[in-house]
Amino acid sequence: MEHVRSYYAASANPAPLRGPLRGDVSADVCVVGGGIAGCSTALNLAERGYRVVLLEGRRVGWGASGRSGGQAIFGFAAGQDKLVAAVGRETARRMFDVSVEALDVLEQRVARHAIDCDLNFGQVHAAIKPRHETELKAWREELEQDYGYNSLTWLDRQEIGQMLATRRYIGGLHDSRSGHLHPLNYTLGLARACEAAGVQVFDGSQVTRIEHGGTVTLTTAGGSVRAKHVALCCNAYVDEKVSAKLKARIMPVGTYIVATEPLGEARMKALMRDNVAVTDINWVLDYFRRSADHRLLFGGRVSYSGLQRAYTQRATRARMLSVFPQLADVGIAYSWGGYVDITMNRAPDFGRLAPNVYYLQGFSGHGIALTGMAGQLVAEAIAGHAERFDMFTRLEHRDFPGGPALRTPALVLAMLWFRLKDLL
Ligand SMILES: Cc1cc2nc3c(=O)[nH]c(=O)nc-3n(C[C@H](O)[C@H](O)[C@H](O)COP(=O)(O)OP(=O)(O)OC[C@H]3O[C@@H](n4cnc5c(N)ncnc54)[C@H](O)[C@@H]3O)c2cc1C
Repeated sequence: MEHVRSYYAASANPAPLRGPLRGDVSADVCVVGGGIAGCSTALNLAERGYRVVLLEGRRVGWGASGRSGGQAIFGFAAGQDKLVAAVGRETARRMFDVSVEALDVLEQRVARHAIDCDLNFGQVHAAIKPRHETELKAWREELEQDYGYNSLTWLDRQEIGQMLATRRYIGGLHDSRSGHLHPLNYTLGLARACEAAGVQVFDGSQVTRIEHGGTVTLTTAGGSVRAKHVALCCNAYVDEKVSAKLKARIMPVGTYIVATEPLGEARMKALMRDNVAVTDINWVLDYFRRSADHRLLFGGRVSYSGLQRAYTQRATRARMLSVFPQLADVGIAYSWGGYVDITMNRAPDFGRLAPNVYYLQGFSGHGIALTGMAGQLVAEAIAGHAERFDMFTRLEHRDFPGGPALRTPALVLAMLWFRLKDLL
């Protein structure tokens, strides 16, 4: 199984395609899913001395982690207000701290394991309308006063205009602590670190059956793993064979990226002076950044209705041209998409299916940094320090209404509503 065709796959560091699980093995912990969440969980556990097996259905980095916009940003997709309403100010504040620690953990891992993944710091939340400017300024004040987050600087129209060669933005919030990276190379680097720490990693090993108990048995086409603990890190690809309960609580939402032909260093720097990642703050948002070889990587426009690739490439390019019309003569070299795992309230959904079966999902499109930290929280919990993991289990989650058949049309309507809201 190959990675999907993308700029990331074309610029991936050499990595082995590992063989599938053959026969029956036992482990302290079996991790299911070879994205950042799974690799980070496995790495943290192996570093604590556990015997770990990681089962990936396709290939490490095949899912969202290998296709993502790569923006590593503090916080949660749900926003702090929702967390405060759900768990109170004090716990929401500790959750926020976890999301900031996630950035440090990411940086330390990249350094410790010498992961070559183009990590750069600097991220901008861009305002398109006066309403956005007001919201961003209020947000900065709240983050500084209530959360002690002091890495933000306001960019006025002139300053953002000098940074980005577009007239679309009237201002923006620059965050020096968040950043961006090549997500596939980061994931592949984590998997390499896992193996160096003793994790047995298997590609092509889709889990098709889980028998719960004091020892859990996970079955694949070629064998089985008997483990004392399990961590399920399947993202939007979770199916009923793993857990109908988890599947019902997330909605797979498509998001699409295009990579231009290389623009050359001078043209790229004229377009984006600094190597920052940018996202606007519409509900249906655009996000973009430079690649190491001077392409523009531009993503956006989620779809809840499974649109065709040709359409999404055209639509994403059109979004890109609305920000940078001067790129009309530039070809699109790659276009790809993937699913994010949205929860009803967009808050992360961490918990246990049984006392020894943990799960991490619901990153809701905001997972590059948080997935890595979530893996650390599972490892802490398995090692007997569950306080931080359990803090997240206090967030309540509901099933999407209507089951798989009805929830897609319902979400298409919801998206139309959000698009209308963006026009206001
Ligand atoms: C196009 C796109 C752009 C994004 N942009 C950003 C961004 O800029 N910033 C940000 O923070 N987030 C972004 N995200 C979200 C972010 O990438 C994800 O939240 C994160 O990568 C999720 O990691 P994960 O490990 O949970 O899931 P994945 O990387 O999807 O890994 C899950 C893995 O589980 C495997 N699996 C599933 N079921 C089984 C099974 N039964 N047996 C074995 N294996 C199984 C799958 O094959 C898959 O490889 C984006 C996502 C996409 C798709």
